[in-house]
Amino acid sequence: MSIKINDKYYAYSAIDDIKRKGEYGGAVTTIMKYLLEEGIVDGVVGVCQGYDIYDGVPTLITDPDEVIKTAGSIHCATLNIAKFISKYLDGARYMKLAVACKPCDAMTLRELMKKGNVIEDNLILIGINCGGTMPPVPTIRMIKDVYELDPADVIREEISKGKLIVETSEGEVGYSIENLEKQGMGRRENCQRCNLKIPFNADLALGNWGVVGELEGKATFVEVFSDKGAEVLNKVIEANLIKITPSDEEGIKKRDFINNFMLKESLNKKQTDYAGTTGDIIDVFYKYSDEFSRCMKCYGCREACPLCFCKDCCLEAEGPEWVPGGRTPAAPFFHLTRMVHMADACTNCGQCSEVCPSEIPVAKVWSTVNNKIRETYGYIPGMISEDSLPFTDHVSKAKRL
Ligand code: SF4
Ligand code: SF4
Ligand code: SF4
Repeated sequence: MSIKINDKYYAYSAIDDIKRKGEYGGAVTTIMKYLLEEGIVDGVVGVCQGYDIYDGVPTLITDPDEVIKTAGSIHCATLNIAKFISKYLDGARYMKLAVACKPCDAMTLRELMKKGNVIEDNLILIGINCGGTMPPVPTIRMIKDVYELDPADVIREEISKGKLIVETSEGEVGYSIENLEKQGMGRRENCQRCNLKIPFNADLALGNWGVVGELEGKATFVEVFSDKGAEVLNKVIEANLIKITPSDEEGIKKRDFINNFMLKESLNKKQTDYAGTTGDIIDVFYKYSDEFSRCMKCYGCREACPLCFCKDCCLEAEGPEWVPGGRTPAAPFFHLTRMVHMADACTNCGQCSEVCPSEIPVAKVWSTVNNKIRETYGYIPGMISEDSLPFTDHVSKAKRL
């Protein structure tokens, strides 16, 4: 069988354990295990359960028998996968990795490849469709207070037909996602304005949207986006580890419908978030000056931002030019310095907002600025493109040499 770019299939594992434990037939876990077993990669990066089902832990696995630990669903995994690879796995410089990634992880990894911080040839991106992720602690609170369920009983949650549905062994409870989000619950704010739900910038994209008929709930929709992805899928099928059937027209339409609906909602959210400012930096800082006045310069946003990529950060320089005595610069300068280094590449991943102890909407600020950069330069971060980064390409090129 010869798999090609743009092919679309329904796939499920031929390995019973994985099929049972994995979501929607366990295709992702099976592909990962195969790649490791055959020595095509040295490790796989997936998500394992930590303390409980709301605690997703990014994990490097090098033993094929342990890949099954990543099967199944962790409820609120808002993980910083690109940072995990660039910072803790040396940007895949010394090992080949298969990575299960959300669209924003894939976008950020693509930006880091351009910046020379992650080695493209050593990565296989196994993309997972994503309608949004929810922060763990507020979600546990919401399940208790609004759904009146014990968070430990939750098997699955899903956004379907405008509702956030939470499933336990007793059945399903659903509330309007729009109303929940108006009250500050539900998906992270950055997810609500996310412009990539199916990761066509990965090598393969997998997810349950568009699986219809007798395979609904039992198989994963797989789409191929690169020659690397086609080769991987071909090999797993030839090894008889995955069963596939071509996706049907009704399923493709359904998947497109879900994707387009979510993208339209994101556009509405962006229009709300960007309202009241031209997007010019002075204007944005003026709009958010009250919020920024709460900044305690803890460096949390810089630490979390996967695209703040310098090994030696000038914000820590002891030089006398503008940080006398090594003091941290005043809030606007701290943020403006960071901006010059990452705003052209910002992928709206939300990691900066998640860590901010002062609850400053940092990701919204940079998304607003990035939107202006997109309009001005036509550069869309995170896509497979050789386009130059508007501000930092000279730095990126120097690092690639
Ligand atoms: S930013 Fe987009 S891709 Fe990332 S978790 Fe949110 S919805 Fe998913
Ligand atoms: S994480 Fe928040 S408080 Fe800390 S430096 Fe960034 S904006 Fe300031
Ligand atoms: S500035 Fe925030 S949203 Fe943008 S890439 Fe960095 S962490 Fe992600």
